[in-house]
Amino acid sequence: MKIRTTSRIQLIDITASLNNEVADAGIGTGMAMAYSPHTTTAVVINENEPGLKEDILKLLNLIVPQGRYMHDRIDNNARSHLQAVVLGNNVCMPVENGKLALGTWQSVLFVELDGPRHRKLLVRIVGTG
Ligand code: ZN
Repeated sequence: MKIRTTSRIQLIDITASLNNEVADAGIGTGMAMAYSPHTTTAVVINENEPGLKEDILKLLNLIVPQGRYMHDRIDNNARSHLQAVVLGNNVCMPVENGKLALGTWQSVLFVELDGPRHRKLLVRIVGTG
């Protein structure tokens, strides 16, 4: 999947796109993995609610405050890398009845931490029809 981000830090709901991939794969029961091959993005599962998304960004700024970091000598984006480390770069989900078996309030969110950029997300779906 290709994802074009539009802000430096941004949460993008990719649940519908992933469900389309599951449908295209023709898998009824199995597993789906979404994996970001970048070092300044993350993938998380949580609620797609505007206030919560603001809170998550606030949390990221609290966990990794403005400061001087060693990696900034290289390309000045250490905070983006560190925030990505905290969140993780992949999620794995069960597939049931041809759809992601997410909880009622769960969405899959792609997290841009050093945008805007053109990003890739690798999706692997295994299972039986
Ligand atoms: Zn860097």
